[in-house]
Amino acid sequence: MELEADRALVVGFAVTGRSVASALLRRGVEVVVLDDRPDAAAKAAAAAMGVELVTDVDVATLVAAADLVSPSPGVPIRHAAIQAALATGVPVWSEFELAAAWDERPIVAVTGTNGKTTTITLVTSMLERAGRKVVAAGNNELPLVDALEDEAVELFVVEASSFRLQFTERFRPVVGTWLNVTPDHLDWHPDLDHYIEAKFRLWAAQRDDDLAIANTDDDVVMAYASRAPARRQTFGLMAGDYVTRGGDLVAASGEVIAAIAELPKRLPHDLSNALAATATAVAAGASVGDCGAVLREFTGLPHRVQLVGDAGGVRWYDDSKATTPASVAAALGGFASVVLIAGGKNKGLDLSGLRAATNLRAVVAIGEAAAIVAGVFDGVAPVVTATSMDEAVRLASERARPGDAVLLSPGCASQDWYRNYGERGDDFARAVHELVGAS
Ligand code: ADP
Repeated sequence: MELEADRALVVGFAVTGRSVASALLRRGVEVVVLDDRPDAAAKAAAAAMGVELVTDVDVATLVAAADLVSPSPGVPIRHAAIQAALATGVPVWSEFELAAAWDERPIVAVTGTNGKTTTITLVTSMLERAGRKVVAAGNNELPLVDALEDEAVELFVVEASSFRLQFTERFRPVVGTWLNVTPDHLDWHPDLDHYIEAKFRLWAAQRDDDLAIANTDDDVVMAYASRAPARRQTFGLMAGDYVTRGGDLVAASGEVIAAIAELPKRLPHDLSNALAATATAVAAGASVGDCGAVLREFTGLPHRVQLVGDAGGVRWYDDSKATTPASVAAALGGFASVVLIAGGKNKGLDLSGLRAATNLRAVVAIGEAAAIVAGVFDGVAPVVTATSMDEAVRLASERARPGDAVLLSPGCASQDWYRNYGERGDDFARAVHELVGAS
């Protein structure tokens, strides 16, 4: 499939925008970049690439001069340049659509509100163990258009966020796995249906001999699975081709993948991700034995229910990556009694479902959303508010009793106090170590 564009407009010039611009330039396409708030790094990158970086311009003229618009993942659909392109029929392609136009090598892809990074990490290790030359791509660490440069790769394991799936038509994974869906990113998508429809792009262009893998524990995913054109397989904690049974994880073939008791990560959502990853990797050529071996060694990724301190009978967990209520609920479900540190930058999500928690010793509310968090837990558990991470850790420590877990699981984005979730989690671990010593 050829890309027939002479002049492309790249909207947003951070990690992915820069990768897209370079990839277009390498293929002889003229590139103009629009960024509303370019920082020094963006200006330097544009200068180094020799592309024109514009800001504060007449967007309609700019779009009219382009025969392709490629928005970066951070640019919301309401942006004037995207709206102008959609209104005037200029093609709008994400980096996934460009990759689909440029490369025929197979892709397996995973989408879902929570668990994508964990699952693609597992799938990649499983396929490597099976001797396949694979790479995990499709995120800001390695945009897919950059991953294409490695000619030795046989198969791409792609993390498919709604932002990148939006604006695809031909992107077609041979195996597409949809983990779950709960409200998220409502500051980007106009409404929930729009978000879910973007996720369905994972399956929409599949052919009937491709495979759609769906989670039986998620009714919305299952409803969309019935619309998927490809063959279907399922996974789930209670039912599915890949399922938990009698203390084991069991594959579609009936083989035992691993005993649950052997797994370092075995909260319910960990098991769900393990089943999803195995289903995906087996469909792409790994053996059940390869998958089990990887799961037995997998101790989890940083900032996802990661133990960072253990003192006086209290265990401290960094779950800074939990920016949705569903991921907070998943973490809370793993402990008998929790002091929860929650809050941050509000993404417009409804946290009220967390009122159902029955294992909260106390809640420490932090960040811009502290008042919202305090309101949510009012009457459920004692709530205090902290104005810094050090204060949050101190207040949590005063409330925790031996046997409790203290869990930083914010349910909100991090950009009120930090640049990203990683920085927030590291700051939490630092504060914990300063107060209670290293684990
Ligand atoms: P993503 O890449 O989709 O954001 P991650 O693997 O980075 O997913 O995990 C994000 C957060 O969601 C972490 O707090 C993690 O503990 C939690 N999580 C992971 N898998 C699931 C799941 N299947 N259901 C609910 N929460 C999950």
